[in-house]
Amino acid sequence: MSIEKLKTLWQKYFGTSSPKPLETKKPTRVKRKTRRDRLNGLISEIGKEMFDVRVQVEWGRCPYCESIAQMMSTRLGYFRCSNCREITKQYINGRIAYLPVDDQSALGDEPKA
Ligand SMILES: [Zn+2]
Repeated sequence: MSIEKLKTLWQKYFGTSSPKPLETKKPTRVKRKTRRDRLNGLISEIGKEMFDVRVQVEWGRCPYCESIAQMMSTRLGYFRCSNCREITKQYINGRIAYLPVDDQSALGDEPKA
C-alpha cells in the first residue's frame, strides 16, 4: 500500500492532490453538508478499497526478537512484529501473548482451523 497509490485515488476522486476543498467562494449550508456527506462516503469507499483487511496494531512481546514491539495484524489472529518482521500468532489466555508460528502453511490464503 503506497502513498502514491493513495494520491492517485485521491486525485481520481477529487481532481486535486490536496484534500482542501476547491469551492470556497459561496458555500451555502446545504451545499456544504451535501459535500461533506459525499466526502465521507468517498473516504470510506477509499478506505474499503485501500484496506480491505482491517488493520490492527497492538503492543506486545515478540517471541522472535524478545522485544516489546508494535504487532501489526496481517490476518485474523496473526500479527507481524514491527521490529524483526516475523509473523507471530496471537494467543489469548487471560492475557494476550504472541507465539512463534511453526506451521508456515497456516499463513496461506486459506488458514486451516
Ligand atoms: Zn520481533
